[in-house]
Amino acid sequence: MTITGRTKITGIFGYPVEHTLSPAMHNAAFEHLGLDYCYLPFLVRPEHLGKAVDGIRALSMAGVSITVPHKETVIPFLDQVSEEARFIGAVNTIVNSGGRLFGHNTDGRGFMRSLAENRIDLPGKKVLVTGAGGAARAICYYLGEKAGSLTIYNRSRAKAESLASDLSAIRPHVAATDTPGDLGQYDIIINATSLGLKQDDPLPFDAGMLRPQQVVCDLIYKRTRLLEAAEKRGCRTLDGLGMLLYQGVLAFELWTSVEAPVAVMKNGLLRGMGN
Ligand code: NDP
Repeated sequence: MTITGRTKITGIFGYPVEHTLSPAMHNAAFEHLGLDYCYLPFLVRPEHLGKAVDGIRALSMAGVSITVPHKETVIPFLDQVSEEARFIGAVNTIVNSGGRLFGHNTDGRGFMRSLAENRIDLPGKKVLVTGAGGAARAICYYLGEKAGSLTIYNRSRAKAESLASDLSAIRPHVAATDTPGDLGQYDIIINATSLGLKQDDPLPFDAGMLRPQQVVCDLIYKRTRLLEAAEKRGCRTLDGLGMLLYQGVLAFELWTSVEAPVAVMKNGLLRGMGN
């Protein structure tokens, strides 16, 4: 990749940012298509977030990805926010349009693309989501629209109830529950908690209650103990790599207005993961 005076700069703001896989994914795509863009990691301390966002305007950057811990706190610094990002309360992509900063959230649509790619259909299906944090809000925004019914379970019940109540204003058939209950009743079960990030984390629910033919998804983008246990029970499983890929694909298309080379981005991700 050759940087010139015309190269458009994109990147990611996070703290920490060392482990991000996004530069590998986006730079592979820019290079493959011969687009004069590059994607850089920016370590942005929380107290510097406002200045960093001003820097997008000041440096005429094309846009950035936003990751932990800035996804929620970045919103007040933006000029406009998409309807889904407003609902979710979090932004993961900023587009700089002539100095006006527009915030999007591509996580939920990224997850839906991953489901579609794996031919996991939602109409008429009973779906359980465990977790009610930012990622759960992002996917529930779309699951609530497409699934037959959506049930949300979270350790802190008030957060599950608040998400279900926010959703019920715009989506039918959404409810919170204070226990995962009989898991056998669901067609699709999705872990949107952070349980599983660490190898010794407990499972988010009793995998012994799973039955063959159920679909079990984990938003964590590695093979978690939950997915291993679900496979042993005869379930179909899906990890979060597809969501990570497609949220990036959607961001790429927002910045460039060019169709993203999905296979190239996936290879970039896998290379970044050391595979
Ligand atoms: P948040 O911090 O916003 O939410 C964390 C959620 O996990 C909350 O529901 C929290 O419950 C729950 N939780 C945390 N610890 C425990 C525990 N010990 N027992 C039970 N529940 C627990 O995180 P995000 O929503 O941003 O991320 C959630 C997961 O999704 C992460 O693993 C993240 O890596 C993954 N993710 C994947 C993406 C992808 O592209 N594949 C994109 C974004 C996220 P409580 O409310 O009670 O604290």
